[in-house]
Amino acid sequence: MRKPTVILRDCAEYDPEKIRHLVRAGLDSLHLRPNGRTLVKPNVVASGPRFPHAHTRPEFMEGVLRALKDRAASDTEEIAVGERCGITIPTRFAYKGAGYYEMVDRVGGVKMYHFDEETQVEVPLYHENRLRDSFFTPEPVARADFFVNCPKFKAHPWTTVTFSMKNYIGIQDDPHRLIDHDHKLDEKVRDLQYIIQPQFIAMDAITAGEGRMLTPIPFDMGLVLMGDNQVAFDAVCCHIIGLDPLSVPHIRMAHEEGFGPVDLSEINIIGDVPLGLAQERASAFRVGLVRVEDYFEGTSIRAYSGKPPGGEVDYCWGGCPGALEEAIEILRLYDAQCDDKIPPMHIVFGAYEGTLDVRDGEQVVFLGDCASFKGNIHGKPFELESVYVDRSEKSPYEATAEGIFTKMAKVTTKMATQGSKSAFRIAGCPVSVAEQVLLLVNMGKLNNPYLDKNQVIDFNNAYFSSRTRKTINRIFGQPYQRSGPTPRGASRPKQNLPPKGVKAPLEKR
Ligand code: SF4
Repeated sequence: MRKPTVILRDCAEYDPEKIRHLVRAGLDSLHLRPNGRTLVKPNVVASGPRFPHAHTRPEFMEGVLRALKDRAASDTEEIAVGERCGITIPTRFAYKGAGYYEMVDRVGGVKMYHFDEETQVEVPLYHENRLRDSFFTPEPVARADFFVNCPKFKAHPWTTVTFSMKNYIGIQDDPHRLIDHDHKLDEKVRDLQYIIQPQFIAMDAITAGEGRMLTPIPFDMGLVLMGDNQVAFDAVCCHIIGLDPLSVPHIRMAHEEGFGPVDLSEINIIGDVPLGLAQERASAFRVGLVRVEDYFEGTSIRAYSGKPPGGEVDYCWGGCPGALEEAIEILRLYDAQCDDKIPPMHIVFGAYEGTLDVRDGEQVVFLGDCASFKGNIHGKPFELESVYVDRSEKSPYEATAEGIFTKMAKVTTKMATQGSKSAFRIAGCPVSVAEQVLLLVNMGKLNNPYLDKNQVIDFNNAYFSSRTRKTINRIFGQPYQRSGPTPRGASRPKQNLPPKGVKAPLEKR
């Protein structure tokens, strides 16, 4: 059997024509031609002048889209870009901030999908150890014939790194994305692989993102990476930064499920940059896995983390603690006095069994449904029980997500009614980055990024445009389809087959 291929190409600058040339050559060496419904999934988790390194750059996408058009087969129905960005921002706003609308206008003939506005299609899962029996994904993903993953090379505070596989968190809309976005996040990323596998991966590793995923520190790597197998691709990325791919749970689990190899001897590595040189360039790259207690050391926030439910792990990588790390970094971008303004406070995650050294006037915030504590606060006995609801009781069919203005109203009301108490809970599983930003805005009287005067008009336009389109879709279309249009073609992983005798909706055409 042919080995999966990963291509390492030298590219020091965001030159769309150079990137086009490299990507076209990459498609050529992999004998790939876009066809049918071709969908390109970038990483646009956040964008705009304050988030220049969080997303796949538009110059990169321009090169990729032009190369795809150059190589498109005659039966290509469309070439499209699709994404659901993060932190409760409308994808329209993220696309605009990233310069994607101008970019697709320059390329011409490219359709834009906003996954938060699209019909969501149910895709059943059959593999063992799955978290759920099905996923919802936007129709353009479910129906893609030629799927191109275009991630950004970044570190991640929940999953160590975000390379190709982790980019799949953006193939769900908010209600479904937040389900299992907790200490099972790596398993969720593994399961997402069953929705679709990319025929082609092209990664923006020209300027990589170190340390974090929303506000990464730029790290010049000067690489365009391409490949045809997601596990092999992520494994090579790990090797570039000196990380054992098996130490990243979602890569290990996808490998164990048969999605691809991690051993370099089973991967065909080609290109004009030898792996050793790529490793030299990335030798000081720092990943993002820092426990919240350590992350906030030396600040006015003292963080404490106990075990999340289930007893399998002792820390909720994937949930509330990492979201607090991203939240503080966003706030630092919008308020230079952020750290000085936040009063000394205590934030508790999970079932915390230690003590809390809370001084007069200081407050304790229990973040998340699973937070619990029994002990003393301000010298008085205090007990808070977990209100965690087991994931088996959360149905994707009933999943909802609040818009940013609802979140803002809820957090503000909560603070108005509870904010003077010595201790209170912010509920949720997870408590999203957006909610944690709003909590700290209230606690420290910080500038609110969602009301930033430089972007408020664009933000509101995108928000109301997106809401209107979703409402129209809900009235005239089918926002959710059960067992609806199904993935076609060879992109469906062969493991996603029904048990014998069970008719699979996936098999319908
Ligand atoms: S409430 Fe937060 S910390 Fe607890 S399990 Fe859920 S995501 Fe993790």
